[in-house]
Amino acid sequence: MQHAWEIPKTVRGLNMKEKFLGVDVSSYSYEELKQNISDDIEQKKQSFIVAINPEKILQAQKDAGLLMLLNKATYQIPDGVGVLIASKLSGGKISQRVTGIDMLLTLCELASKNDKSVFLYGAKPGVADKAKDSLLEKYPNLSIAGVIDGYEKDQDYIKRSINEAKPDILFVALGSPKQEHWIVDHMKELDVSIFQGVGGSFDVISGRIKRAPVAFQRLGLEWLYRLIVEPWRIKRQIKLPTFIYKVWKNRK
Ligand code: UDP
Repeated sequence: MQHAWEIPKTVRGLNMKEKFLGVDVSSYSYEELKQNISDDIEQKKQSFIVAINPEKILQAQKDAGLLMLLNKATYQIPDGVGVLIASKLSGGKISQRVTGIDMLLTLCELASKNDKSVFLYGAKPGVADKAKDSLLEKYPNLSIAGVIDGYEKDQDYIKRSINEAKPDILFVALGSPKQEHWIVDHMKELDVSIFQGVGGSFDVISGRIKRAPVAFQRLGLEWLYRLIVEPWRIKRQIKLPTFIYKVWKNRK
C-alpha cells in the first residue's frame, strides 16, 4: 500500500498547510477533508489524521521526535481556538475548527453512506463498546468491524484483530502523544487506509464524559466547559497564553 506522505507534497496541496512554531496545520474544511479522505480510501492510500492544539505544539518545541511525528501526518486538523488565533496572528486563513470528535463523526457518516467500515481501538474496557452502541444509534448503517480497549497488552492480538477485520478507517484513542506514536509505529503492518488519533472521543461518545453544550461549542468555549467538568485540565489549558505569545513573537 502506498503511503500518503510518499505522494509529492505539491500533489496533495502544500499550500493547504500553515506552520506554527514549526508544526504543520492543514487549512482544509470538513468538505475538503471528506473529499480527500474518500479519494485516499478509493486509491488505497494510507493517511494519518492528527488533531493539533496549542498544548501539542508547545510539547513539540521540547520534543524533536514529536515534532517530526506531527509533521509526518497527512492531515493535521486545527483542533482548538488557540490554533485559529495563531493563524489570524500570522496572516493565515484557518478560520474554522476541525475537532477530533467532529472529524470522527464526519468519517462515521462518510463510512455509513459509502459502505466503508470503521474500527474502534482505545479507552477503558467497556467504553469503546458503549461508543459503538451510540455510533450505531446515530448511524444505523455504519459497519463497525471491531472494537478493542486501550489497555489490551497483547500487541499481536491487536494487530491480528485489525487485519482480520480489514477496516477502512481505524480510530485510535490512547491519549496524546501515545496514540500518534502507536499509529506511526504500526501503520505499515496494518491493512487500513485511514488512521485517526481521537484522544478522549470514545469517553464522550459513550456518554462517560459529557461534551460541552452546543452554546459553548458555538462560542469556541468548549475548553471552559471541560475545565469546569475536569478541573485538573487547568495544568494543560494554562499553556494557551504562552502559545499565543510565542506565535506572536515569531510572526514574520
Ligand atoms: N487510554 C488508553 N490506553 C492508555 C492510556 C489512555 O486507552 O494506555 C485512553 C483513556 O482511557 C482515554 C484516552 O486514552 O479514553 C485519553 O483521553 P484524553 O482526553 O486524556 O486524550 P488527550 O486529551 O490526551 O488527547
